[in-house]
Amino acid sequence: MILRPKVRGFVCVTAHPVGCAAHVQEQIDYIRRLGPIKNGPKRVLVIGASTGYGLASRITAAFGSGAATFGVFYDRPSEEDRPATPGWYNTIGFERAAKNAGLHARSLNGDAFSDAIKQQTMELIQNEMGPVDLVVYSLASPRRVHPKTGVVHKSVLKPIGQLYTNKTVDTDLGIVSNITIEPATNEEIADTVAVMGGEDWEMWMQALQTAGLLAPGATSVAYSYIGPEVTWPIYRNGTIGAAKNDLERAARRIDALLKAHGYGRAFVSINKALVTQASSAIPVVPLYISLLYKIMKAQGTHEGCIEQIQRLFATQMYHGSALDFDEGGRVRLDDREMQPVVQRQIVDLWPQITTETLGELTDIQGYRAEFLKLFGFGLAGVDYEAQTDPHVTF
Ligand code: NAD
Repeated sequence: MILRPKVRGFVCVTAHPVGCAAHVQEQIDYIRRLGPIKNGPKRVLVIGASTGYGLASRITAAFGSGAATFGVFYDRPSEEDRPATPGWYNTIGFERAAKNAGLHARSLNGDAFSDAIKQQTMELIQNEMGPVDLVVYSLASPRRVHPKTGVVHKSVLKPIGQLYTNKTVDTDLGIVSNITIEPATNEEIADTVAVMGGEDWEMWMQALQTAGLLAPGATSVAYSYIGPEVTWPIYRNGTIGAAKNDLERAARRIDALLKAHGYGRAFVSINKALVTQASSAIPVVPLYISLLYKIMKAQGTHEGCIEQIQRLFATQMYHGSALDFDEGGRVRLDDREMQPVVQRQIVDLWPQITTETLGELTDIQGYRAEFLKLFGFGLAGVDYEAQTDPHVTF
């Protein structure tokens, strides 16, 4: 069939297998261009490995440091006449490229929050790879079935304590409007912490430790975001921010666990705001990202997921570098985003953005192009007029 993007709100319900593989290859090429990352990880588990920051971490570990990788992800496989979600195609593209390069790569598609997937992961790592020296925790999920209670927790993106009104954009239609969001209830806050907080990360690390699958010096990292004041009510001070505070709590606990057993360290890395499937669902944030891209591209400091993670590995975690923590014990990859010169322009331009000025003041075109790339559309060298079989298997 001829596969075209079908955008519905903040998702695209189609994906292109050849385009997704090309998107993965683009990231592999970037890592290869920058050269090997010395003293990098050798056996890596990535939880949330199929898109966004997790996929970039897997690519950087494999193609920057020659690591064997195990990726856990949760995507809808393709069918005879129905495309998969992009992470399925990305993971197949990654595995093929890794195997061609002689790198061990194994992936497991299923619910990382469940005991069953943790158990299967332990068995496969035990049998096929051996103890891991890096665990990347990069899940972004709207829900979690709690493995012990069976309760289904749904995360919400809401402010805490007060109504929040700000501008937002329908990225597909290019319409800027005001959105008012009711504050979260206590139950919604607790649910969001249960889904996006640190409990599951702790469960993973505990399971690995108990199974003897952490190598000496093992490190674990999870990703978070802080961002500027314009997004604080919906992000940092909202329900997702409460969950991210819990992630930092978990980082301290896991760090203590790793140190107590003579392993390495655990920490949270604060990354830049980028177009991913997760961020496109947050009100206000896509408009902020469109403006941020315009400013950072003009300044020559724009980065995507792969550039961010390459920088994390090469200038913080490995390659003879040392972790540079902020006062809260976090690594800051959002340093360029948060530069005063960038944020001053955000503050100045934000009030001026309307539907009419959107195209001129922001990089909404770049946002849309990046968004479509997440689904394998708009990649150079891919023939989008060609008949394409959507059904691709491992
Ligand atoms: P993403 O949506 O691109 O990736 C999420 C990954 O999690 C996918 O591989 C998906 O398959 C996997 N996943 C979701 N639910 C799962 C489940 N139940 N079991 C197994 N796998 C599951 O998201 P992203 O933007 O790369 O986010 C990853 C992390 O980075 C999140 O913690 C996010 O808060 C953080 N972060 C994102 C941004 C941003 O702007 N996008 C900025 C800073 C930090």
